[in-house]
Amino acid sequence: MKISLKYLILLVVLFSVLLTLFSSLYAGYQLERETLIENTLETNRVYAEKLANTTDDYLTFTLQTLKISSEILAPSMKRNEEALLTEVNQLKYQSNMFNSVAVADQTGTVIAVSPESLEIKNKKLNSPAALQALNEKKPLISKPFISITGRLVIFISHPIFDQKGDYLGFVGGTIYLKEKSILNELLGEHFYDDGSYVYVVDGDGRIIYHQSPDRINDDGSTNPVVQKLMKGKNGAQRVINTQGKDMLAGFAAIPTAEWGVVSQRPSAMALAPSNAMIKSMIITALPLILISLIIISLLLTKIIQPLQQLASLAEHSSQHDQKQDIANIHAWYYEAIQLKKALLSSFRILHEKVSDFQQQSSTDPLTGLRNRRAMSEHLATLAEGKRPFAVILLDIDYFKKINDTYGHGVGDEVLIFLARLMKETVREGDICCRYGGEEFLIILPEADTSLAEHAAEELRIHLEQTISPTSEVITISAGAAAFPNDASTPAELINLADQCLYQAKQTGRNKVIIPTF
Ligand code: GH3
Ligand code: MG
Ligand code: MG
Repeated sequence: MKISLKYLILLVVLFSVLLTLFSSLYAGYQLERETLIENTLETNRVYAEKLANTTDDYLTFTLQTLKISSEILAPSMKRNEEALLTEVNQLKYQSNMFNSVAVADQTGTVIAVSPESLEIKNKKLNSPAALQALNEKKPLISKPFISITGRLVIFISHPIFDQKGDYLGFVGGTIYLKEKSILNELLGEHFYDDGSYVYVVDGDGRIIYHQSPDRINDDGSTNPVVQKLMKGKNGAQRVINTQGKDMLAGFAAIPTAEWGVVSQRPSAMALAPSNAMIKSMIITALPLILISLIIISLLLTKIIQPLQQLASLAEHSSQHDQKQDIANIHAWYYEAIQLKKALLSSFRILHEKVSDFQQQSSTDPLTGLRNRRAMSEHLATLAEGKRPFAVILLDIDYFKKINDTYGHGVGDEVLIFLARLMKETVREGDICCRYGGEEFLIILPEADTSLAEHAAEELRIHLEQTISPTSEVITISAGAAAFPNDASTPAELINLADQCLYQAKQTGRNKVIIPTF
């Protein structure tokens, strides 16, 4: 199969269009993704900071409230149960900070609790948080632990001292991690349809708040973001979380409790608009590309057409004369014009050469008359045409002698001289041929025997009256015969003329003989 230039160029164009489209789409896509990532990270960073501040303020306020309560409770610690209960209820129900509130004495035994339904009064607290409070005797925010009531909780406590500074016990409140609590209120409503959500870790990287309760108390310390929070850092980064999910996370520390907030969104969801963008870009670009390809293909056709036509003519150049076909090709730009010129001139040269060869193959080189081959063709054509014609066969008298006397060169000149004289003497349309050696044949279309005889006689007399290159007069003998009167084929006709010529030679030369029947 021949590959055409048009399709090659179209292929290149298609390739470059697609390459351009792909690279610009890709660049746009990358830029869009980077922007989406940056924006999401920044949004989450700001949001995590806001939540961290709110939570930190809450914890500071909570510790402050417990401090005031501890001062109020101190005088009642010696079993003024009513006053204790009033205070714990106040803490529980008015401040709404805690899920439960309890006061314990210096042994860790609960002496007041709200709600009372917990039924832990007079029970000894032995949770790590309670023991830590008893040991350290200072304000504390505990790690998550399973409380005496079997719940996962955080305990925030404040020591109670009497006026002399003796330790009397502590007052504290729990926050239920897996139930509705102040943490839910602070953080809880902050996840959206877009997949964003918030979680909080404690200083050990343990999750203490998460939108899905199953995750609460999970260890998140292998997460790079959590590790940064554990060092008290704020920021934003793309991260693969402990579940193997690609996330865009903003994070901020809560200094009071050494906690940290993470606000994050799955990267896939954040980046979803970039896929939609690519789709819409392709949909927008597609018709334009198609239109451009059609226009390019039309232009290409215009450009390629002259080349195609030239190529196809060149391919079939030997079949017939296509000069006119080439001339008709509309070559409208440099290369096509040059090719057209080249093709035209090569055709011209070809035809000149062909006609040269034709000329050469039918011409006698010495005299310039038609040679014997051409003569035979003419005779055959005339005979086929069934039109009458005559021939004169003539031979120089004593030519051998001329050669012998003056040399072969002068002999040649005499042949040329006779040929010129023949052409001068015959009618227009008569054909002079060199039959061979110093014998010539003249074809006279539409002539009969007597006209041929007359013409031969005229030539003979003309020659007789003209000085030849030998400086002397030369003579000829001739025989003439006509078709179809004297003979019915060219061969017969020549044979007959030859017989007449022979007779002329025999009967004294320098004469013309015609058949006598
Ligand atoms: P005749 O009158 O009987 O025709 O005598 P002739 O001498 O012409 O006889 P003949 O036909 O035997 O001689 C022909 C000579 O013509 C022989 C040959 O050397 C010479 N001849 C043939 N062709 C050429 C040629 O091309 N150039 C020259 N110079 N001589 C030629
Ligand atoms: Mg002869
Ligand atoms: Mg002769």
